[in-house]
Amino acid sequence: MNTCAAIPKVDRMLLWPAVTAALRVHPRPVVLASLRAMLAMVRGGLLRGETLLLDEETLSERFLRALDAATTPSLRKVVNGVGIIIHTNLGRAPLPRAVVPLLDDVAYGYSNLEYHLATGERGSRLDHVAGLLRRLTGAEAALVVNNNAAALLLALASLCAGREGIVSRGELVEIGGAFRIPDIMSQSGAILREVGATNRTHLRDYEGAISSATGLLLKVHPSNFAMVGFTAEVSSADLASLGKKYALPTMVDAGSGSLIDLKRFGISGEPTVGDFIRSGVDLVTFSGDKLLGGPQAGIIVGREEFLRPMSSHPLLRALRLDKLTLAALEGTLRLYLDERLALAEIPVLRMLTVSVAELRGRGKKLLRRLRRTLPEGFSLELIDGVSQPGGGSYPLLSLPPVLLTISRDGLSPQEIESRFRSARVPVVGRISSGTFTLDLRTVMEEELPYLVSALLTLV
Ligand SMILES: *Cc1c(COP(=O)(O)O)cnc(C)c1O
Repeated sequence: MNTCAAIPKVDRMLLWPAVTAALRVHPRPVVLASLRAMLAMVRGGLLRGETLLLDEETLSERFLRALDAATTPSLRKVVNGVGIIIHTNLGRAPLPRAVVPLLDDVAYGYSNLEYHLATGERGSRLDHVAGLLRRLTGAEAALVVNNNAAALLLALASLCAGREGIVSRGELVEIGGAFRIPDIMSQSGAILREVGATNRTHLRDYEGAISSATGLLLKVHPSNFAMVGFTAEVSSADLASLGKKYALPTMVDAGSGSLIDLKRFGISGEPTVGDFIRSGVDLVTFSGDKLLGGPQAGIIVGREEFLRPMSSHPLLRALRLDKLTLAALEGTLRLYLDERLALAEIPVLRMLTVSVAELRGRGKKLLRRLRRTLPEGFSLELIDGVSQPGGGSYPLLSLPPVLLTISRDGLSPQEIESRFRSARVPVVGRISSGTFTLDLRTVMEEELPYLVSALLTLV
């Protein structure tokens, strides 16, 4: 029977190789706290009468476990087994692999963020992506900020402060995270002028509301809900013509902002940003991390005469993008120069367009591998599910799932769900019809080993 007196002193442990190695890479207070946490556990065990090994090897190993828990970053990788491609809680769009080296380059060291290498003079951070955005959307000018909410705020403040912005009652949407169109308008200083009825708005409604106080005609894409039945809305082309007739700017908040037409993959109702520009509207705003599949960003494209005042607006300074985001955005946009490349390399597009047959193939491969390693008592099944509209923030982006159901004798689905969530690389799934399930659409091929590791925690 060993006692607390047999525990080595901290001073001595500080000389152990495991601890000295830890001190080279981790802050000393964190290493000391991990040592103390480990010792408290050991003392607790001894006081309960447990027989514990107190040699260097055993204690070092316990220390490393405590240190690991203390140094795991708060923000970290998870595997999305929920099947919702643009999942706000899980970081929205996963970035293309191809942009990661670009981030590395710009992150470690200096960059030409606001410096013209050709002339040696001061440059603008916006120039790194403006040309690409013009080319990809056909717009005259482009500007980027932190997110689409910021893009709207800046555009409204610049074009419409103290004036009326006319919006259809059917488009006064809440996007999620308490983001509501009426609120953002009032924050910008624009005055909301609602027209039409919830389900139907006609061109004459907009026209009837135009007065000397009007500053903008705004159309908002109702990204996360759809109206069916007796409905009417005004097309962006008709709104653009009305704007021209009265010399008023027109703007579309496109929300997702797709750069390529996804109709041939069965995803309809998402006009591209280029379509909006061609329809004649003056400005289009959209997110960088929804359908575009890049980093969080807000993009405004459109007529130079309206974008120029925005680029010198004081709000721009408060909303400006960071260099890492710019690097990721430029890298993502470059992939769009070749549609084939974009579809192959951008995870959001790949997940949207992957066939059910391919998902089944991925599932079968995984099953074969798992059945070889797992002991008795596990039940794994591959099933075609039904998509759950309304299951997430963007129902449009929840497609027919191929589900892997996982159960194990003696474990409740809640327990399985919780163990997967606590895995070294957490795997987030859901319980459906009383069984823990993973939707393979959002699990990348290279993430399959993480599923295996999470499963092994159930053994
Ligand atoms: C998502 C969305 C926003 C907000 O965009 P963020 O990039 O999340 O700030 C604004 N408008 C519409 C229509 C949206 O779908």
